Amino acid sequence: MADLVIRYPSASRRSRLRIDPGGLVRLGSFARLVTRARRFAVVSDRNVARLHAGRALRSLRGAGLTATAIVLAPGERTKGSAQLARLWDRLTELGLDREDAIVALGGGVIGDLAGFAAATYLRGVDWIALPTTLLAQVDSSVGGKTAVDLPAGKNLAGAFHQPVGVLVDPHLLATLPARQRRAGLAEVVKAGMAVDPRLFAWIERHLVALAAGEPDALAGAIERAIRAKARVVRRDEHERRRGGRTALNFGHTLGHAIEASRDYRGPLHGEAVAIGMRVAAALSVRVAGLDPAARARLEAVLDALGLPRRMPPTPLSRLLAAMRQDKKRSASGVRWVLTPRVGHASVPRLISGRLVQAALLEAGACA
Ligand code: NAD
Repeated sequence: MADLVIRYPSASRRSRLRIDPGGLVRLGSFARLVTRARRFAVVSDRNVARLHAGRALRSLRGAGLTATAIVLAPGERTKGSAQLARLWDRLTELGLDREDAIVALGGGVIGDLAGFAAATYLRGVDWIALPTTLLAQVDSSVGGKTAVDLPAGKNLAGAFHQPVGVLVDPHLLATLPARQRRAGLAEVVKAGMAVDPRLFAWIERHLVALAAGEPDALAGAIERAIRAKARVVRRDEHERRRGGRTALNFGHTLGHAIEASRDYRGPLHGEAVAIGMRVAAALSVRVAGLDPAARARLEAVLDALGLPRRMPPTPLSRLLAAMRQDKKRSASGVRWVLTPRVGHASVPRLISGRLVQAALLEAGACA
């Protein structure tokens, strides 16, 4: 695929997105293309650094650039305000200035954290996303949302800060554990269910290959999901338009609540989103006119991809409290993104507490 250059109406700059199998070793030339920076902090976590940081650093240095690694602990708990403050300190110790840049080499945790550091350090420096999980390649590296979690909930402090470049190398997925791969597929399904009926139908046709993690099928899913997301976010960069970017939060109201209620030690983000989508589809049948057959299609796809049907037993009161804390709430209560048809998720709406509670109990919450 040729580079996809996303021009954001409100941003002073654009974001160049390249899907390049094996492209990690070409990071240096990509960096020279997308930024004038000559010095880079390459932020990653221990797992990713062990496997892939050496080649990233060599490629940057080979292109005549200066590169230093900053390696953090893996896991969602790294996406916190204390870790962000430590990262700022490391950047100052390195003496990074406003002409320098950050590379986020890792999954969504590293992308969100390093992206937010780039948004805030010296009031903003360039950053390049080099996503290494399927979830980050199909979803979190596109659209410029960066954030850290607060004790009260996920992503509660953050900024929109577009990376100047996104380099997607599908070969990096060869080292990704199967469970993480499946969790990433949940966000591909979400893109189809929320905004792209043709993508959803494509997933149905390639289910066996996707479930097996066949590289060609994954590459096809990555390209289609990125295009679907880019179409939506370039029209509604800051999630303000009714029915625009908010549609991509399908499954996330509950997904985030499950993660927060389990202290980020429970299901993976994509697994929690899968459960959230099942409940959002059930509610869509009840109040948004979704055909039960369409809900069954979603259930069948999630089942075939090995994504969970129910959450681990979680007290209803904790889930409801977490949903109220989520930033997608409004003054009047928790809003749900529902869909009347596959690929047409719409404006978030309030739903009767009784219906929500019944759906949560059915999905594994305990009274
Ligand atoms: P993650 O970053 O924690 O990565 C998952 C695990 O895989 C980690 O242990 C990591 O070390 C390991 N890993 C990463 N790449 C690897 C590779 N190539 N080989 C082997 N191991 C590898 O988790 P994630 O699922 O990528 O991201 C989840 C985060 O993304 C959540 O915090 C979520 O809120 C965020 N997110 C952000 C957006 C956005 O638009 N900004 C969208 C969706 C999700």
